[in-house]
Amino acid sequence: MNHQPFETWLLEDKNLSPAEKRELDLHLRTCSHCTALTETGLALRSAPVARPAAGFTLRFQQRLAAQKIAERRRRLWGMIVLLVSGTGLLGWLLAPYIFAVASAPVEWVTAGIGYFLFVLTSLQAFTEVIAVLLRMATDFIPPYVWMVLISALAGLGLVWTISIWQFSRAPQGVTA
Ligand SMILES: [Zn+2]
Repeated sequence: MNHQPFETWLLEDKNLSPAEKRELDLHLRTCSHCTALTETGLALRSAPVARPAAGFTLRFQQRLAAQKIAERRRRLWGMIVLLVSGTGLLGWLLAPYIFAVASAPVEWVTAGIGYFLFVLTSLQAFTEVIAVLLRMATDFIPPYVWMVLISALAGLGLVWTISIWQFSRAPQGVTA
């Protein structure tokens, strides 16, 4: 059987005119060889869809790099926005105090020192109270109760340390 020109048309994936198409259809009805060729051609034409095109890996890597840069830029902008808004908010919150201090510095410095002294003396009084309470406790509480209390505290500390350690060991997520 003569397969020409149909074989060439099929192999070259030729764009057929309606007349040529009719001729080919007629030939395919009687020729299993060219029918098989048609099916192979269809399979070959549909294959590139699934198969990655040449340079796919390179383009993928390039796109990935571009995405990383964009991500980094987005994060940088986010940080700038956060910093600026944070500074603005802080300034807005502190502005009245800054103006007050600027308008009456001596009074504010005096008040600040007074507050500092107040905290200091309060702390002193507090530690004294604690010391007195401890002295009283050592007089009243028998030694074995102290042993129990101290071991309980040590146990709590151990649990706390382990939980912190586990928390810090938790997976950090994927950060690029
Ligand atoms: Zn044929």
